Amino acid sequence: MAKSAGTKESKPEVNLTRQREAILTVIRGREDHPTANEIFQAASLSLPGISYATVYNSLRFLKEAGLVLEIKFGDSASRYDRETGRHDHAICNCCGKLVDFELPQAADLMRAAARRSKFQPASVHLTLRGICPDCLEPDATAGADSLSLKARADRKVRQRKAGPKA
Ligand SMILES: [Zn+2]
Ligand SMILES: [Zn+2]
Repeated sequence: MAKSAGTKESKPEVNLTRQREAILTVIRGREDHPTANEIFQAASLSLPGISYATVYNSLRFLKEAGLVLEIKFGDSASRYDRETGRHDHAICNCCGKLVDFELPQAADLMRAAARRSKFQPASVHLTLRGICPDCLEPDATAGADSLSLKARADRKVRQRKAGPKA
């Protein structure tokens, strides 16, 4: 009796308004995890006159529909991620670049963290902070510079390892 069972292959996942569609397109077109403000600026190019409130509400809708992921790092503005599956992030301390990666060992880490904290684990998200390849080696031919940077980093690690633990 109920509307029957045809599979709806050709139907879009969710019925999106033009604004929501445009905002989703902005997010899916970038890999840099833009903030709401950056999305607003980009969406204004294709939809002149769109308001920040519309962008904000659309982001909330897209997030609730599972089409984008909202991620927060500390107190800074939320970033929006086209990748909705579990994955990890690396953030550059220099330029703020945010990239995705996936560490298969994260599940093991989560179990270990759960044991330590005595929490029942639900999810784990790793954030690596450091310096991205572009900032580390602004000029690909500057081999000597990057070597010295690496040497400095190595030294720092060694110092930390040789720390006060007797
Ligand atoms: Zn960087
Ligand atoms: Zn991501």
